[in-house]
Amino acid sequence: MNEIRERERAGIRVPDELRAMLLEFTCSYLLEQPEDVVSYAQEYFTKFKESRGTALIYDQDMYDPETMGIKTVLARQIFDSRGNPTVEVDITTDLGLFRAAVPSGASTGIYEALELRDNIKTEYHGKGVSQAIKNINTIIAPELIKAGFEVTQQKEIDEFMIKLDGTENKSKLGANAILGVSLAICKAGAARKNVPLYKHIADLAGNKDIILPVPAFNVINGGSHAGNKLAMQEFMILPTGAATFTEAMRMGSETYHHLKKVIHAKFGLDATAVGDEGGFAPNILNNKEGLELIKVAIQNAGYTGKIEIGMDVAASEFFKEGKYDLDFKNPDSDKSKWISSDELEALYQEFIKEYPIVSIEDPFDQDDWAAWSKLTGNTKIQIVGDDLTVTNPKRIQTAVEKKACNCLLLKVNQIGTVTESIEAHLLAKANGWGTMVSHRSGETEDTFIADLVVGLSTGQIKTGAPCRSERLAKYNQILRIEEELGTGAKYAGKAFRKPQ
Ligand SMILES: [Mg+2]
Repeated sequence: MNEIRERERAGIRVPDELRAMLLEFTCSYLLEQPEDVVSYAQEYFTKFKESRGTALIYDQDMYDPETMGIKTVLARQIFDSRGNPTVEVDITTDLGLFRAAVPSGASTGIYEALELRDNIKTEYHGKGVSQAIKNINTIIAPELIKAGFEVTQQKEIDEFMIKLDGTENKSKLGANAILGVSLAICKAGAARKNVPLYKHIADLAGNKDIILPVPAFNVINGGSHAGNKLAMQEFMILPTGAATFTEAMRMGSETYHHLKKVIHAKFGLDATAVGDEGGFAPNILNNKEGLELIKVAIQNAGYTGKIEIGMDVAASEFFKEGKYDLDFKNPDSDKSKWISSDELEALYQEFIKEYPIVSIEDPFDQDDWAAWSKLTGNTKIQIVGDDLTVTNPKRIQTAVEKKACNCLLLKVNQIGTVTESIEAHLLAKANGWGTMVSHRSGETEDTFIADLVVGLSTGQIKTGAPCRSERLAKYNQILRIEEELGTGAKYAGKAFRKPQ
């Protein structure tokens, strides 16, 4: 019984039948007080097993790491929401199969962990992931199984894989290989503890107060995510005035469909096609026009004051020769119209004055530090580092020192393991920053980040428009979590930057 208590204290699930058997044995032993304890126990357990049939296998094998730990690790190639190859990992334990898939970005910061692609031009335009898969199946899998970890040992397993890779940016095995395994392990760990995934993540992060995030719906797409002329990449709506996550979803969905009508009326039906993240991609050049369309849609939906606006500029994408080219998708753009950091900041200040903007991500190039610090010092709104910080502790530390931003964009595939993602969030939090959990433009049906944002209770998530199932999969999972939490569910709302 002591061993059972110890295992439970360590967060390990003890099957009910095993507990019942040991309880019966203890009672029987106390009653009969046999002299030879060992043979009494052996006889007792044999009888017990016979009485329950062969289905009951709980004996000393119960404590064998071979059955308690990882049984198999198997990677395969699947396809993401853009039709590009990506990595999927299946891990089996005695409790079943746990599956995770790896997302991929289009606008990737140069400081991100390395996503291993085959680069064979004649196959999948160079985007194959057969090497990453081979690395999992022939290197990570055998080593991990041999090491005999319990699946609840997330930190130890992640550190083991980082060591096995041995490079700074996970370029030997590939961040996509390591992440796939790390995510699947986390799901297996939750099952081992018999708790929901978000609860397991909350335990790993030492978070005791569960809070549901404000969704940041990306409703107008530009930049590298859309075929229009718009330079700035994302225009988002944040239902901060909702009382619950369910209400936030209603506000987002209704406003999205109002926006569709506004765009249809102004630009025609072909302007209502959507970009990679489910947002509309009307062929507008003027970024302010994007904000105006959203303002009208919010008004028409009746949510003025309850929905605020966020942007991801992804400015590194149009930083050229020290200037910003807001017509960067035009190969013949007029060089004399490229603007300086100061002029770009003036544009943001104008936006903030005229529209209910509460968050701007990557307003400047990832190495234009001075411009970042200046804007952050000059505004009260949230300034988010994505390409700037790439979920990397070293970059975050530099950004903290330079006061370059006040919020971390958390992308699991930028850093490559669950443990490092949690650490990045805790580092940001310790420095008074907010954290916005984020999907990638190339997504899968995997909903891990929904549980991650709830488990860490960061207060905000961006995972696309309320459109396209690889985006909705995450929002839908948060709806399920809200239902499960019942009356205890708390929504971050206006406190999305610092919910705790
Ligand atoms: Mg971004």
